[in-house]
Amino acid sequence: MHKEKNCIKIAGVIGDPIAHTRSPLIHQYWIKKNNINCFYVPLNVKLEELEKKIKYIKELDFRGLNITIPHKENILKYCDDILEPVKVIGAANTLYFNNGNIIADNTDAYGFYNLLIKNFPNYNFKKETVLIFGAGGAARAVSYVFLKNGVSEIRIINRNFKKAIKIKEDLDKKIIVYEWSNYKNALKNVSTVVNSTSLGNYGSEKFNIDLGGVKDNSIAIDLIYNPLRTSFLSQAIKYNMRVVNGLDMLIYQAKKGFQNWFGCKPSYTSELKEIIEKSIIK
Ligand code: NAP
Repeated sequence: MHKEKNCIKIAGVIGDPIAHTRSPLIHQYWIKKNNINCFYVPLNVKLEELEKKIKYIKELDFRGLNITIPHKENILKYCDDILEPVKVIGAANTLYFNNGNIIADNTDAYGFYNLLIKNFPNYNFKKETVLIFGAGGAARAVSYVFLKNGVSEIRIINRNFKKAIKIKEDLDKKIIVYEWSNYKNALKNVSTVVNSTSLGNYGSEKFNIDLGGVKDNSIAIDLIYNPLRTSFLSQAIKYNMRVVNGLDMLIYQAKKGFQNWFGCKPSYTSELKEIIEKSIIK
């Protein structure tokens, strides 16, 4: 498919809106560091234009594509192959173009796993009782990571109870599901809490649930990274929890895609992290 050996490569991200995405910052950084002859372009694609635009992208011989809201599920009908994480999560965030075929991947589970290990190198899944707030695509990715690594106990709480039950049915019957109003019981003796709702995202309603009841020295992870100090993490700090925002997950989920597109291993560096932090509205 990539006819000329030294021709300029193209990769990008599609979504609507697209201006907020940090993906170009990350990929352009690695493109430069690895001396790759490539343009990484953010493209605003409306829902109704998806079919037409994905056809152009294929014809233009893109190396790869990141997918953001609102296309993460709709894109699947234009893909020739769906990798295992996409089947579990039900959505794609990364595409690979291979000999005219489009392969759908979801690198959020990879991103979350690496966030966890980077920040808590001695994390022992088998001793952890975990509570996940949310039951969307990101909650599925996070649940998948905990289950795959043999977590001791996993609980999910979501505003829409049925969506949480669906994760239990799809992923593992051992998941314990709580009604949103029953958060006090859900938090009892928990050692890791993850916010995978959009509560606390820049411009969204704040996360204002009291996290009392968690074990001493517990971990709080917010998948949100804008703002850097989220309302969920502010709640966690009240209970002396060890806190991490979603920036590392963002970088690691990008890393896996880049690696597959260009066949080289980009580095996670503190310089890259600082570049993204500086771009985030305080
Ligand atoms: P999604 O599928 O749209 O799910 C959104 C979740 O937020 C649902 O559980 C929804 O509950 C909940 N929610 C929304 N508004 C709420 C409210 N007012 N009260 C209570 N719950 C509410 O989105 P997603 O893809 O899973 O993403 C979730 C979050 O993770 C987003 O903030 C996203 O930015 C972040 N994320 C970060 C990374 C990263 O790399 N750091 C990667 C993926 C996602 P209902 O089901 O009841 O509607």
